[in-house]
Amino acid sequence: MIDQKTKKNFEKKPIIGTKYTIAISSAKGGVGKSTFATNLALALKNIGCKVGILDADIYGPSIPKMFDINEKPKSDGQKLDPITKYDIQCMSIGFLADQQTPMIWRGPMVTSAIKTFTQKVNWKDLDFIIVDMPPGTGDTQLTFSQEIKMDGAIIVSTPQEVALLDVKRGIKMFDKLGVKILGLVDNMSFFIGDDGKKYKIFGEGGVKKTAEEFQKEFLGEIPINPDVGKTSDEGKPIVEASPEHEISKIYLDFANKIKSFYL
Ligand code: ADP
Repeated sequence: MIDQKTKKNFEKKPIIGTKYTIAISSAKGGVGKSTFATNLALALKNIGCKVGILDADIYGPSIPKMFDINEKPKSDGQKLDPITKYDIQCMSIGFLADQQTPMIWRGPMVTSAIKTFTQKVNWKDLDFIIVDMPPGTGDTQLTFSQEIKMDGAIIVSTPQEVALLDVKRGIKMFDKLGVKILGLVDNMSFFIGDDGKKYKIFGEGGVKKTAEEFQKEFLGEIPINPDVGKTSDEGKPIVEASPEHEISKIYLDFANKIKSFYL
């Protein structure tokens, strides 16, 4: 006999056009979640995967800026075509709404936007859709996790205590909703000064410790590097702008790990 929880899982709808859907989540804003989502997508592409990005950060979409996309998606009357840039199929609420206008969304509107993005976009022949979630544990995470077949989640954090508290909340949410957490990433872990010394600006080891505490995989750390912000601001994230950069190599490691989980 199928219990209710298993039944519910069967009822979750997959996104048509992709084999796997992976959420990139963070407890707080500003920890580098969108930067991670875009560069992971590009690194996966560089190792031969077909990738899409679904920018579900409805309160602060970043993909239009980070990928320098200024056009609107075309519609065939039924479905929207994603906009392909750097060989990545992209969809963002930012393509549809004026980026300068603050968006005030309520629960049902969030649900309907998610339905559009997951069921009414012509995603084509993808291995992975990387979903850039809004920060926190709100309506978007809940709706995705309850309605859509999510194949995994990665939680990005910076190492300071105040961010970690929320990370724990995020872990518990995905666990409860039955979404497999692929692992935790420690972003902006340290800075290497001109003197060659490592400066641990936000503290040390907190994300790894949290991963251990909850028996989740620790996927690795990414240092603070000004080139990361500069390239994103210029509309071409570092993995695309400079594939040989030390940061791009770190992203390549992440991509190889993620690919090995599935393909
Ligand atoms: P979030 O999606 O969590 O709100 P963003 O990806 O927008 O965060 O990143 C916040 C800011 O931090 C951006 O200006 C981004 O360029 C910068 N940033 C992210 N990761 C790094 C890094 N490893 N080194 C330097 N700057 C970074």
